[in-house]
Amino acid sequence: MQYFPKMKILVLAALFALVNAKHEQYIGWKSYFVGPASLEQLTSLHSSSNQFRLDILSRPTVQTAGVILVHPESQTDFINNLEYLGISYSVHVNDVKIQLDRDDEITDSWKQSLSRSENSTLPFDNYQDWEMIVSYLNETAVRNPNTTTLEKGGLSSEGRDLYYLKISTTNFEDLSKPIILIDAGIHAREWIGIPVATWIINKLTDELNETDLLEKFDWIIVPVVNPDGYVYTRENDRFWRKTRSNNTNNWECVGADANRNFDHYWNTEGVSQDPCDETFAGIEVFSEPESRFIKEIINENLARIALYVTLHSYGSTITYPWSHRIGLSNNALGLHAVGITIVNGIQEFALPQFPRYEVGSSALVLGELISGSSDDYAHSIGVPLTLTVRLPGLIPRSSAGFILDPQYIRQVVTETWNGIAAGARRAGELVN
Ligand SMILES: [Zn+2]
Repeated sequence: MQYFPKMKILVLAALFALVNAKHEQYIGWKSYFVGPASLEQLTSLHSSSNQFRLDILSRPTVQTAGVILVHPESQTDFINNLEYLGISYSVHVNDVKIQLDRDDEITDSWKQSLSRSENSTLPFDNYQDWEMIVSYLNETAVRNPNTTTLEKGGLSSEGRDLYYLKISTTNFEDLSKPIILIDAGIHAREWIGIPVATWIINKLTDELNETDLLEKFDWIIVPVVNPDGYVYTRENDRFWRKTRSNNTNNWECVGADANRNFDHYWNTEGVSQDPCDETFAGIEVFSEPESRFIKEIINENLARIALYVTLHSYGSTITYPWSHRIGLSNNALGLHAVGITIVNGIQEFALPQFPRYEVGSSALVLGELISGSSDDYAHSIGVPLTLTVRLPGLIPRSSAGFILDPQYIRQVVTETWNGIAAGARRAGELVN
């Protein structure tokens, strides 16, 4: 009998160690605000960065400072390089592990509000769990049988169903209607895109009041492209970005960057061949179930997709092809027009503390080339309007943590929906 209390203590001690072990891989890491003042500085920042162990959390542009996560061993060299290049910087988070623990406390304190009853919409005052999203999608299709069907696009590497919703007043049979395709969550850690996508579903189903949007368009919404990665960021590693495939038989370094895995100049620019890197392009084109999932939706509906918006974070930018080279697409005018329309729609509701969105071609706004992205792929095979929207998150020069504070989720979903609704209408005018 006397062993039991001891055992209890051991179990408690083990639990305590487990709780505190969270985020341990980030002990000693720091994050920095980095603010290049010109395109030359931005480009030289990227071209000199490969030698350091960096992870870009929020993409810097010439207008807005970005946030870069730096491994303890690289910090001195990284700073020396910024000083050599004359790029301004400041510390964003001095102790990444402690900040991640604090971020957890913020989300935990909001968790009470996460309970939901049958027939209710999802909560938008905290980040939504995968299981919760799956039941919401099922229930939404049941509640809106005349317009909404839940579809599956195969299985993820870890065996999760890859879900999307088709929303249409004409059962997708009116071939004259343009389709608007929206996806989110291809990069696991970019949480804020997911509530934006589920909010859009809500506004097109249970809370539909802008009926013209359903009369004129069919909609395809993919709220979580990469559920394996999303679940992994919730339970294991907050900064996980890739899929969870293991095509290289290396359990130390699994996954590929699904947004570098599409068949458009695959594995040429802004990618890594090292499976341990965040931008590993995969062992071959479309090696990932998640990129194949989006490819199949695009290919199947190619004749009718007018606008494809892929939601990422952070950065407050809307970029359009091309990403793999500096030259503009032949449809740059239309792309720019829809981008500006979305920004104007967002601005109607935007908060002053978030940076104003920048719009432009990917290569010029980011100062870096990227290949194998979903928007470039879709555009290259004939989708006239494809945009990457990097949602707002980290307020420049504030001591905000790594998550967008849950109190801002409702703000971001509302303003973004206003922008996307306006962008869809503009796209409808442009393609007709
Ligand atoms: Zn992303």
